[in-house]
Amino acid sequence: MRPERLNPLFAETDGLKGVGPGLRRPLERLGLRRVKDIAYHLPDRFVHRRVVANLDEAGVGEQVIVALTPRDYRSGGSPRAPFRVLAEDAAGNVCALTYFGRNAGWARKQLPLGEPRWIAGRLDQFGQTLQIVHPDHVADQGAAALGTVCEPVYPVAEGLTQTRMAALAQQALALAPELPEWIEPGLLARTGWPDWKAALQASHRGEDKAARDRLAYDELLANSLALLLVRDSNRTRVGTPLQGDGRLRGKLALPFGLTGAQRRAIAEIEADLAQTAPMLRLLQGDVGAGKTVVALEAMLIAVEAGAQAALLAPTEILARQHHATLSRMASGTGVTIALLTGRDKGRAREAILMGLLDGSIDICVGTHAIFQDSVAYRHLALVVIDEQHRFGVGQRLMLTQKGKRTPHCLAMTATPIPRTLTLAQYGEMDVSRLDEMPPGRQPIDTRVVSVERTGDVVEALARHFESGQQAYWVCPMVRENENEDLAAAEARFAALQDRFGDGVVLVHGQLKPELKDAAMERFAGGRAKLLVATTVIEVGVDVPNATLMVIEQAERFGLAQLHQLRGRVGRGSEKSTCLLLRGESLSETARERLALMRETQDGFRLAEEDLRLRGGGELLGTRQSGEAAFNVATLEQITELLPIAHDDARLLVERDGGLTAPRGEAARLLLYLFERDYGVQLLRGG
Ligand code: ADP
Ligand code: MG
Repeated sequence: MRPERLNPLFAETDGLKGVGPGLRRPLERLGLRRVKDIAYHLPDRFVHRRVVANLDEAGVGEQVIVALTPRDYRSGGSPRAPFRVLAEDAAGNVCALTYFGRNAGWARKQLPLGEPRWIAGRLDQFGQTLQIVHPDHVADQGAAALGTVCEPVYPVAEGLTQTRMAALAQQALALAPELPEWIEPGLLARTGWPDWKAALQASHRGEDKAARDRLAYDELLANSLALLLVRDSNRTRVGTPLQGDGRLRGKLALPFGLTGAQRRAIAEIEADLAQTAPMLRLLQGDVGAGKTVVALEAMLIAVEAGAQAALLAPTEILARQHHATLSRMASGTGVTIALLTGRDKGRAREAILMGLLDGSIDICVGTHAIFQDSVAYRHLALVVIDEQHRFGVGQRLMLTQKGKRTPHCLAMTATPIPRTLTLAQYGEMDVSRLDEMPPGRQPIDTRVVSVERTGDVVEALARHFESGQQAYWVCPMVRENENEDLAAAEARFAALQDRFGDGVVLVHGQLKPELKDAAMERFAGGRAKLLVATTVIEVGVDVPNATLMVIEQAERFGLAQLHQLRGRVGRGSEKSTCLLLRGESLSETARERLALMRETQDGFRLAEEDLRLRGGGELLGTRQSGEAAFNVATLEQITELLPIAHDDARLLVERDGGLTAPRGEAARLLLYLFERDYGVQLLRGG
C-alpha cells in the first residue's frame, strides 16, 4: 500500500483548478496524469527578461519588459491577416503588438488606446517595424506585476499555454508534502543539496544545478535501490535446478558451428540453471549475433530436465518468426513447440492451454498473452524474454511469479547499451555478452545520400529488384509528429507502388495486427519485394533475401536505432547495402552521427558514441521506442551520479535490508514516489 502522505501527489490532475475536459488531452499527450507528474514536469529552460525604459535599450531577439502606450489598431484585409496594435514607448519608438488568429477582440480589451501598459515578450523586427508577436504578458501596473523576471519555459502541447502550465505547476507544488530525508547525510553535506521539496520548488523557479542534481539523484537512487532489492530477493527465492543430459541438444541439426561467444554464453547459462537460486541473466548481443540459438539451447536444457520453457516476444510478428525458426531448428529433437498470441481464440487456444497444463507442450512461444492469468503451466522452469528493453523491471518480475517455484529468467537484448547505462538498467542481472559475430558476415555497404537524389535511389531499387532480391524502405515515425509522419510514409508507399506495382507492401504501427502480419508474411515469403515500413521492423525480423535498405530522413533517428534497422540486412550470403537519405541542411552533430554509421558496424561502439554525441539530452533511442529509463536524470547526471547512487543503495541495503530504520522508511517513500514500489513488495514481510 502506498503511504498516505504521498496521496496528494498521486491524485489525478482533474482535481487541480482549471483542469477540465479541454486540458485533459494536452496533459495526457505530455504524459501528465497525476499531480506528481506535473510537479516533476520541469522547465526545459528559463527566459530571462530585462526591464527596459524604452526600446532603444533593447536588442532585436531579446526578451524584454517595457512600458508601451497603444495608439492605433490595424486589422488586416483578410480574416486570416494578423491584428496589430501600434504602440509607442517613452522615447517615441513605435512597436507593433501582433496577434494571429481570432484574438482581435481580446487584444482590444487588454490594450485600450491611450492607456500605458507593461508588455513582456520577445522583441522582433518585421520589415522596418519593431514588433512583439503575441506578448507573453500584458499588465497595467509596474514591471513587478508581471511577476518573475526569470520565467520557466515548459514543454507544452497544443492547447496548453505556458501561463497555464506554470499555474498548474504552482498548484502541484503547493500540494507537495514535506518528506523525510532519504539521502545519506554525509552526501548532502558534501553537495549542499536542498531537501526534496525545496529542490522541487527551486527547479521550477530558475536554473539551479544543486536542485536539479538532487532530483536526479533521487531518481537514480530509487532505481538502484529497487534493482538491488530485486537481486537480493531473487537470491532468497527457490527455483528448480535444471540439469540437462544433452539428449535433445545432441539431436539439434544446426547448419553452422557455434561461435566462441555463443558457447561461452551457453556455458554460463547452463551453470546458472543447475543452481537452486533462479537465474537472472541478461544476454546482450548485437543484431545478428545469434541470440536465438542460445535461447534454444537454454530451453532444451529445461526440457531435458523434464520442465517447460516459455519465450516471450514483444510483438506478434516476432513471436511468429521465433516460432517458425525454433520449430525448424528443433525439428529433429521431437520437442513440441506451441505458439500462443492474443489472437488465438476458441478451440485452438483451448488446445494450447490444455497442452501447457498437462505438459504435452514443452516450449511455448508468444506475446504477453502467454502470461495471462488463464494460462497455467504444468512445470514452467525457464522464461526467456526477447528484446528485453521493451519490458520494464516490474513486468519482468510479474512474469517470473508465474510458476510455483520462481522460474529461471533469461533476458535478451539487441540494444547495445553503453557501460554506464547497463548498470542503470540491468543492475540486478548477471550479463553475458555475445561480442563476436558469426563468421562470414559481409560488412554492409553504408552510404549517406542527399534527399535530392531520391530519384536515383528509386532507379537503383529497380535494378536491385531485377536481381531477384528484396528491399526495405524505412520512414521515420516519432510520437510528437505522428500524423505528419504517417502521411509521409503513406505517400512514399503510394509513389513506390506506382513505380513498382503491387509487389510493394506497407507496415506501420497503426495498422491492424492482421493486416500487418499479412503484409509481413507476404514479404517474408518472398511474394512482396519491397517492404515500406515505419520503425516496426526494428526488432527481430529476419529475411535474408532482403539486401538493400533505404532509410529516409536518417538524421531523425538515433544512432542505436539506425544500427538496429540496418541489422535487418546483411543476413544472407549476398552483399548488402544501406542507403541513408539525409535532409538538405544538417547540424554538425547529425553529420557526425551519419558519418559514424558509415564507418562502423560495432553496436557497442555506436552506443558509446551516441552517448557522447547526444550529451545531456535524451537517452539512446528511447524516446522513439517509448521507453525511457529515467524521466528526471539526464545522461550527464546519470554518468556523474549513478555510481554514487549505486554504492549508496548497496550500503543502505547491507545495513538495513528491511528498510525499517528511519532512513530506510524514508527510502520506502522514495521507491513509491518513483513507482519502483515492486522493490518494497519484495522486502521481507514488506
Ligand atoms: P539475433 O542475435 O539478432 O537474434 P539471430 O539469432 O536471429 O540473431 O541470428 C541471426 C542469423 O545468424 C540467423 O540466420 C542464424 O541462423 C544465424 N546464426 C546464428 N549463429 C550462427 C553461427 N554460429 N554461425 C553462423 N550463423 C549463425
Ligand atoms: Mg533476435
